[in-house]
Amino acid sequence: MNKFKPVDPIKSPRFSGIKSFMRLPYTKTLEEVDFAIIGVPSDAGASFRTGQREGPAAIRKISALLRHHNPILGISPFDYISGIDYGDLPVVPGYIEEGYKRIEDNLFPLVDADIIPILLGGDHAITLPELRAIVRKHGPVALLHFDAHSDTVEEYFGKPYNHGTSFKRAVEEKLLLVENSIQIGLRGSIYSKDHLNIPKNLGFEVVTAEEIRKIGFTQLLQKIHERIGKNKVFLTFDVDFVDPAYAPGTGTPEIGGFSSGETIDLIRGVKDLNFVGFDVVEVLPSYDPSEITALLAANVVYEFISIIAYKKKKN
Ligand code: MN
Ligand code: MN
Repeated sequence: MNKFKPVDPIKSPRFSGIKSFMRLPYTKTLEEVDFAIIGVPSDAGASFRTGQREGPAAIRKISALLRHHNPILGISPFDYISGIDYGDLPVVPGYIEEGYKRIEDNLFPLVDADIIPILLGGDHAITLPELRAIVRKHGPVALLHFDAHSDTVEEYFGKPYNHGTSFKRAVEEKLLLVENSIQIGLRGSIYSKDHLNIPKNLGFEVVTAEEIRKIGFTQLLQKIHERIGKNKVFLTFDVDFVDPAYAPGTGTPEIGGFSSGETIDLIRGVKDLNFVGFDVVEVLPSYDPSEITALLAANVVYEFISIIAYKKKKN
């Protein structure tokens, strides 16, 4: 099944055409689609810099650079799978709870049609309504969370919904198999010493950036696989997992992160997990003048597409 595929960059110059992701067909069809790229241009939950609403457009623009064969996984994804750019979900600037409802309700039909969603943020608040839609179809799922932050704060400014509270709410709403969920890459200053323990007390396994550097990627990957096992898993990728030297265009950068190359290696290492969805969040183009953060995000999405194709080929 490979009905929908990107424009061929050997035949059509990559700077031409309308900038859907990889110049995939922009369509709302749910027929003969294995995965859909879906923008969520919301920054209603940003606690520091804003402008993540521009993230999906920036990722789409630079994604025209991507080519059709992934030599590391040894796969041409579109030989095995069909994919579309579904456009953006409706959001409501300034009204986060109404935005959540629209994101969930408009994502659900795709999930219900067994299309694997790859969502482009947007700030990290959007992952909560995404999980609500996923769980409506699949039941609670494991979370593989790449981030400098745990996003498990109780509240900000007396309010429950924000990009720093998503996974506290997700646990409270029983959206996660928390005993199979893992947060990796945490680092930087925090609000108080108690905040270190919040994700652990909620039941997450946490591997900080410092621990990762100590144990290395081989052991980290082993931890991830032991934790998640064969459970259905949602991968959420906050670009601030990556060092600001490689990903400056983001809302709450933290020093001491990983390089873009290390990050891509790590994502290739989880290719055998049972993914039901993915997102890439927190790209903030106004702080990304050379487009390197958007380029990183586009390549992360390309690895997700390759993983979906790899699994299809294997089965
Ligand atoms: Mn985050
Ligand atoms: Mn973060």
